[in-house]
Amino acid sequence: MSGGEPMFDEATLVRFWDYVEKRGADECWLWSGPRDRPGYGNMSVNKIRRRATHLAMEIATNKPWDPAFDACHTCDTPSCVNPAHLWAGTRRDNVLDMVAKKRHYQQLKTHCLKGHPLEGANLKIRKDGRSHQRECLICYQAYRYDWNRKQRLGIENGGRK
Ligand SMILES: [Zn+2]
Ligand SMILES: [Zn+2]
Repeated sequence: MSGGEPMFDEATLVRFWDYVEKRGADECWLWSGPRDRPGYGNMSVNKIRRRATHLAMEIATNKPWDPAFDACHTCDTPSCVNPAHLWAGTRRDNVLDMVAKKRHYQQLKTHCLKGHPLEGANLKIRKDGRSHQRECLICYQAYRYDWNRKQRLGIENGGRK
């Protein structure tokens, strides 16, 4: 790579931006092109399939992406390719970041998915490894009841025994 020259030709850039719903500088720019399972966009460049987030950073910085790093999202939106929402982290950083956000989410959770309050007698603390999960007792008991019933009827619970 000789210094200063753009990394991508015009046709590649046009193809890339065609897939991006570019919005305000602080907003998420969603990828409308091909995606893999977790929702990360990808696009082939010179017959090599590349992560859309890596391409976005290469276009923004004009430097090749270091494959030792993951593109982490500050916005937690896998399909977002706004360079302002991306940062280069190691795989470990990425995992720690997700764990921290999950823990944060757990602490903020005041109601279960069904809307029962997670407080007082209904708050069940389940130890999950080294972390503690806040669970709803009503839902937990309903789940146990259902599970026991299925066991009695000999129905397997979603393939788990
Ligand atoms: Zn975003
Ligand atoms: Zn509940």
